Amino acid sequence: MIPVSGFEGQTVAVLGLGRTGRAAATALQAGEAQVIVWDDSAAARDVAADDGLDVVDLGKPDAMDGVASLIVSPGIPHLYPNPNPIIAAAWAAGVPVDNDIGLFFRSFATSDWDSFDVAPRVIAVTGSNGKSTTSALIHHILIENGRPAQLAGNIGRGVLDIDPAQDGGVVVLELSSYQSELARALTPDVAVFTNLSADHLDRHAGLGGYFAAKRRLLTEGGPDRAVIGVDEAEGRFLCNQMIQGPQDDRVIRVSSGQKLTGPGWTVFARKGFLSEYRKGRQVGSIDLRHVKGLPGAHNHQNACAAYAACRTLGLGPKGIEAAMHSYPGLPHRSQLVAERDGVRFVNDSKATNVDSAAKALQAFDKIRWICGGLQKEGGLDGLLPHLGHVVKAYVIGREAEDFARQLIDTETDICTTMETAVSRATADAKPGEVVLLAPAAASFDQYDNFEKRGEDFMACVTDATT
Ligand code: ADP
Repeated sequence: MIPVSGFEGQTVAVLGLGRTGRAAATALQAGEAQVIVWDDSAAARDVAADDGLDVVDLGKPDAMDGVASLIVSPGIPHLYPNPNPIIAAAWAAGVPVDNDIGLFFRSFATSDWDSFDVAPRVIAVTGSNGKSTTSALIHHILIENGRPAQLAGNIGRGVLDIDPAQDGGVVVLELSSYQSELARALTPDVAVFTNLSADHLDRHAGLGGYFAAKRRLLTEGGPDRAVIGVDEAEGRFLCNQMIQGPQDDRVIRVSSGQKLTGPGWTVFARKGFLSEYRKGRQVGSIDLRHVKGLPGAHNHQNACAAYAACRTLGLGPKGIEAAMHSYPGLPHRSQLVAERDGVRFVNDSKATNVDSAAKALQAFDKIRWICGGLQKEGGLDGLLPHLGHVVKAYVIGREAEDFARQLIDTETDICTTMETAVSRATADAKPGEVVLLAPAAASFDQYDNFEKRGEDFMACVTDATT
């Protein structure tokens, strides 16, 4: 655990008692703060009270009196569509609102570091898609190359739950836009921005607000190095904001698909090959075509970002390449779950938005595509250019008919349930085809979360193939 510093003897309020809030409360107590907690759910409050936490109704008038800071969980809206009333009360009372990420950055460095040979480092990863894959890959590469590393944030452990830094240790942090928007301290050594596409628009009042939330990690964090995906205008804009001139190698530009030229530092993948250029010369390359855990151009973008981040820490291309080959992949992201009679079954349940599903459709030919669920704002038009790879769409979810209607010029089958979709797709599939779950929608109409949806897919695949 990372004890939170700077609040000794002061009252700090924690709103939200899920994993993040509980870890924040414990870390604040370890830093000798007086912690009061609250959650809208009576069940969560009861558990907290049983654990000895001081449960105080933060919604009552004057609840903010004497509170030094209000720490909130990422699931609680702090601005859009409407701020939570307790957060609004903190604003009115002049109480600074922060989150676990802000507490982490103000508390991570300690006087113990004076005796270290190699200062600990924090690599923070943001972007619309590929954050988890890139973070997990960086972590894997570091471990395989003998660097002590911990994975935390939106993936792995809560950031205040990790162990204090050790000599030469690296913390790899995955940050969501909710987290980066609110944190009052954001000071990674290396910041990674993978890409940008529309998501979570309700929480950021549109794409501009969403980009602004992610951008804070780079523009306010002042990292020593920034790794930026430049395949969208937002990434190119961000690069330009960060650089002093064309030679500036504080910024590493990353692309999947384009050859990046110029005197700076670039890493890009084309036709399955990763190349690294510095000062106009090629200094590293990797053949990604046989890296099993990272299929498709979107994963090659993640590979480039992870490669670049690891290079900033001094790792060599050969060590990085070897580690990529042993990267096992993450569950529910382009995960090969079965192969039968020449048909592959791939679980990409994490493709909860149109952009990530479009990437999955590009990664395979001849797809029996299981899609649908709770649609996100912005419609499905972004999928249309990629439907050429789809042999047939098997549509699930409560709004399956409406979803199917938008898949123009594509054969569709309204299946509604996963079980029906998997059994029909399996019966129809021919050798060389892929049965792909890449829903392009949230799961909440039928499941608690995308993990449960992916597990259901895998169970149905097992039933249909054995
Ligand atoms: P995040 O943590 O940003 O949601 P993940 O690594 O969990 O990212 O991947 C989320 C979804 O996006 C998965 O469906 C995955 O296959 C897809 N994906 C992964 N990397 C990328 C990328 N670079 N660009 C677009 N989609 C991606």
